[in-house]
This record gives sequence, C-alpha cells and structure tokens, in this order.
Amino acid sequence: MKEAVRYLGYGNNTADERTCAMIQESFTELERAADPRSICRIFDMEQDADGTIKAANMKLVSKSLSRNLKGCVRLVLFGATLGIGVDHLIRRSSVTDMSRAVILQACAAALLEEYCDKIQEEAGKELEKEKLYLRPRFSPGYGDFDIHYQEPIMRILDCAKTIGLSMTDGYMMTPTKSVTALIGASPIKERCPAAGCEACSKTDCEYRR
Ligand code: SF4
Repeated sequence: MKEAVRYLGYGNNTADERTCAMIQESFTELERAADPRSICRIFDMEQDADGTIKAANMKLVSKSLSRNLKGCVRLVLFGATLGIGVDHLIRRSSVTDMSRAVILQACAAALLEEYCDKIQEEAGKELEKEKLYLRPRFSPGYGDFDIHYQEPIMRILDCAKTIGLSMTDGYMMTPTKSVTALIGASPIKERCPAAGCEACSKTDCEYRR
C-alpha cells in the first residue's frame, strides 16, 4: 500500500480516503488477474581489473554494475513477471476509467516489486547456506548498465519458455509488468535490504548502485 501511494506521487504523505479505498480495490483485482512467475539461475562470476564482469558466457561492461558487484563470486540471473492478465486488466480500465487505470499501474508496480523481493529473499536463503550474501537487484537500464543486456539475460534464462516473458526489438517487455535483473552474491555480509540501495542507510557504501 505504502509503495503504491509513493508511485502515485504522494511521496511520504498519506493519500485521501477515497484513493486508499481505490488502491485496496485495485490490489484485490490485481491479485485475481496476476499469474506471477519467476526464474533464477546462478553462475560463477569473475571481474577483470578494469571492472569487466564475466559470467554465463556474457561480458558485462558497466561502471555502476561493476561497483555494485565488486567482491562478488556468483551471479544470479533473475526474471519475473506478473503475467499477461495484469496487462489486460489495466488496458480494459484505461478505456473505461483512466484514473482507475493509473491506480492499477501503480499497484501493479508495487505488487511486482514485492514479488521480486520475495523471490530474491528465497534465493538469498539458499546462497546463505554457502555463506554467500546477496547484493540488491540490478536491472538493465540502471545507471550506465545498457538496456541491451536484457536480451542475453532473457535468452540465457529462456524466459519465453520458462515464465512466458518476451521482448520487442525496442526492449519493451511483454507482459509489461516484468523485471530482469542481475544479483551479485558475495562472501562479504552487507545485509542489503531487499528494497535496495535507495532504502539503505549506508550512504557511504562502496557498492551503492
Ligand atoms: S548501499 Fe546498502 S543495499 Fe546498497 S550495496 Fe551497500 S549495503 Fe547493500
């Protein structure tokens, strides 16, 4: 609820009663329409002296990703989607009631984040058995991590078959409420919050994305 209110532009202020009721209703509808699916694959990773990351037969060049993954030894490739039913619900609403569609968009974004956090937490628990600790998710398009890396990530995860997620030539994902990301795993325990660097109080962290 808090995230949806924030996505709607209220910042940390509370929304009015009517908006809160519409948000609640939207979550109920979205939960009915959603078919959340995810895929994670874990690879060994290396980092060259110049910061280039090598993992899963990919070479990743990005200063911000390289900083975030410093010291990591494994790399989780991650894909998740809420499914096409959510797109249909939002599209139908945008024809009949634009303000409801805007609220559905915000709630769907919040629902997707929450779902990704949950899956990431599960992956984190598995890796903790090997004494490895996850950094925050890092998606193509963040900082200088080029959006074109979305293509090899989706190909390696075989997203179309595994979770029904595909991409247009312009890197638009279908279903739209979907995420691809990389998550580094390091032997250094940083206790990164699932919500990521933006929600973390360690402002001087050298891995901050
Ligand atoms: S700023 Fe916080 S969340 Fe981000 S990498 Fe550092 S410890 Fe982790």
